[in-house]
Formats: sequence, C-alpha cells, structure tokens
Amino acid sequence: MMFTKICTSASKVSNSLTTLRNIRSYPAVMSKFDLPTRLKGNEKSIWVEYIELTLKYKPLNLGQGFPDFHAPENVTKALAAAATSDNALLNQYTRGYGHPRLINILAKLYSKLLNRTLDPTNEILVTVGAYEALYATIQGHTNSGDEWIIMEPFFDCYVPMVKSANGIPRFIALKPKNTNGPLSSADWVFDRQELEGLFNEKTKGIIINTPHNPLGKVFTLDELQFIANLAKKWNTLVVSDEVYEWLVYEPYKHVRIASLPDMYERTITIGSAGKTFSVTGWKIGWAYGPAHLLYNLQVVHQNSVYTCATPLQEAVAIGFEQELERFDRPDCYFFSLARDLLPKRDYMAKLLSDVGMIPTIPEGGYFMVANWTTLRDKVRLEEETDENRDYRFTKWMTKNVGVLGIPPSAFYSREHKHLGEDNVRYCFIKKDENLKKASEILMKWKSQQ
Ligand code: PMP
Ligand code: GLN
Repeated sequence: MMFTKICTSASKVSNSLTTLRNIRSYPAVMSKFDLPTRLKGNEKSIWVEYIELTLKYKPLNLGQGFPDFHAPENVTKALAAAATSDNALLNQYTRGYGHPRLINILAKLYSKLLNRTLDPTNEILVTVGAYEALYATIQGHTNSGDEWIIMEPFFDCYVPMVKSANGIPRFIALKPKNTNGPLSSADWVFDRQELEGLFNEKTKGIIINTPHNPLGKVFTLDELQFIANLAKKWNTLVVSDEVYEWLVYEPYKHVRIASLPDMYERTITIGSAGKTFSVTGWKIGWAYGPAHLLYNLQVVHQNSVYTCATPLQEAVAIGFEQELERFDRPDCYFFSLARDLLPKRDYMAKLLSDVGMIPTIPEGGYFMVANWTTLRDKVRLEEETDENRDYRFTKWMTKNVGVLGIPPSAFYSREHKHLGEDNVRYCFIKKDENLKKASEILMKWKSQQ
C-alpha cells in the first residue's frame, strides 16, 4: 500500500519534470504560439487593410461593397418589430440550422425558382452571411489534398478557406477576349480546354461566382452547361456563389447552375440577405442543396456558430414573404433594386471613361473594374511601397485624390497577380450625390497638370 503511494508520487514528480523539459525544449517561447501551419499565408486581408485606409484618410469610399443609402423600410421595420415583439422568444436562440420561418420561405422561393420541391429542414442551412456558408461548405467537404478549381479573379476568401482546410486551389483566369475599346463583362471568358485540363481524380469541386465579383460577369447558360458537364464527368461538386442573384441588368438573365439537368444533386448554392435586401451589416446568409451534401455543412455549423441571430432571421423571413407576394409586380425589391442601379452603373461607366480609364461594363453585381494605366503619368506610384501596381495606384489615389477603390490583384493567386494590376474596382451602389462627388473630384484631378 505504502509502496504504491510512493511510486505514484515519484511518477507524478517525473511527469512534471518531463513537462518542464518539454516546455524548455521549444526553440523560442513564441514558436509554440505561432500561427498554426494550416493558417500560414492567410494573414493579409484586403478588407482589413483598406478599411484602415478609409478610417485614416476618410476618402470618398467606392471600395468595399455596401450601399450608402437606407435599406428597404419593410425589412428594417420587421427587425424593430421582432426585437420588441410580445413574443419573448424572438430574442432567444432559435433552431440551429435556421429559424423555421426563414427556412420555410427560402424553401418556398427556391422551390419556385428551381422548379423542384426543396425540403426546408434538410436542404437549407442559414449561416452568418455568405461567408459562413462558404466556410462550412469548404471545411465540410475538403479532405487533405482535395483540389478545388477557382476562377480568377475570385472573391478573395475562397483561397484561404480552401488552404486552411488543407485543400489545394487550382486556378484558371477569366481573360478579356477583346482588348480594344469598350469592354463588357461578357468579354471576360475562360479557356474551355484549360478548364478541362484542370479536372482530375483529386478534384473535389469547382467554385463559381455568378453574377461575378469583381467583374460583374453573368455566366451564360452555355458556359454553365460546359462546367456542369465537366462536374458530372469527373463526379465533382459545384459551389455556386450567387449572392448577387437579383442584381442582373436587362437584358441579361441569371441562370442557377443547380437548375440544370442532374445538377441539383452535386451543387451547393450560396446566397446572402446582405446583398438581397441591402443590409450587409446583418450578416445573414444561406446554403441550399441536396440533404446529403448539406449534412457536412451542418456538422461544421453546429460546432462553430451553432445558430444565427433570431430577430435578424425573423426580419429577413418577413422580407422574403413580402417580396414573394409581389414577385410578379414591378415594385418587388428583387427587380426594382437592379432597375435603380442601372443608371448608377451607366453614370459610373461614363465618369470613368471621361477621366480616361477603360471600364468593363458589368452585366450584374454592383462593381465595375476599369483599366487605369492611361493615367499612369498622373500618379506617383513610386511614393507607395506595395509590390503590386494596383495597390500603389489605389493607395496613392486615396491619399492624394481622395477616392478609394479596391486593387483587383487581391482577387488573384500569387502567380497571376499581374493579371489584375492594370485595373481598379469601384463600387457603384452609392447615393447619386456621392457618385457625382466622385465625378467632380476625379475630373478636377484630371484637369490639373
Ligand atoms: N461572396 C461574394 C462574391 C461576395 O461579394 C461577398 C461579399 N458580400 C460574399 C460572398 C460574402 O457575403 P456576406 O456579406 O453575406 O457574408
Ligand atoms: N463583398 C464585399 C466586397 O467585395 C465586401 C467584402 C468584405 O468586406 N469582406 O466589397
């Protein structure tokens, strides 16, 4: 008995010594707390960096994508009503995979749009913005070494998400087929043979974004059909980021790849209330797709976020219910927003052309990329230290001219950043007075020697 006690104490002492030795054996104390390897390379964020610039220099902000005008009253009032409702439970946790009222109306909407019946309980997941839907999809569907095909330019978070899941991004760039004169986002195309060459046994899926950020490209039925056929041939997933699904300009039409023959089974589609109802600060998004694919997302979601804000989901649900009721009327917000944005798009295209840039006219979304290199003699890029010219251009313009845009090389892989460097991205979902201000500032700058 005594002997056992002595042995136990001796082994405790020896364990403590081993622990101490282990702590001391770290080459430097800090290395133990370094960023884990799987997150290395993900340190830089264009949004963090450029929001800092906005705060410091207070330029006219045509950078990050958000409206500077009020969100529609029906949804903001619905939020106020939800938060102050007699129903105390509207301020408490709701169902983890999505508030019942919201999943029901989302299922009703997408059942109508896809012409198939979606099961609200198993085929829809409500997330913290489209970001979390993307994260849960990539995290939930990536084994170490799985390849994801990503088209450049891409919404920047796709790559860090793939890398932190130990996946491998494989890139293909959209390139303008016409480099003379005015450009449309439809001119930006992928090489079909090159895309075909990227698919292989290790391909887990392809991530597409239509309407596209930053180009505004609305993928055609033919392009989507081509992608769909490759996905079927190689038995891969398609992740379709459709956060700008309602922001499509006449005469273009948004095609949901999930609605193509035999594609629902392999597609996860992602949406955002931030974009749909002009409430980017609400951070409510969703993913929909077949139950067996959504299951993996549920596993990630339940162990990270678990559930999203109840009153926000209630208000978004009410917004959808109201829009669905007036779906065939011109005042339906899904269509009226794109109509209201069209003159803003055209105003921005004219103002950028007048300044001397060459804009790509978007078919959808609320961004415009423009080639700024004709202005290179007017900017002192040498005053900035960034590696990429578009970073130097946008920073110099922010500090010296007072207009902020986003450098598109942030949306390219390291090897292909040069493809974005001659362009700048501006956001045009802004009040007319602010677009006018942009025009005045840029024209005044242009006229100076
Ligand atoms: N995808 C794209 C293409 C985006 O532009 C954005 C930014 N809104 C997101 C996803 C993320 O959307 P959310 O703000 O809903 O997280
Ligand atoms: N999606 C928006 C954009 O492209 C905002 C992204 C963000 O702030 N992370 O500007």
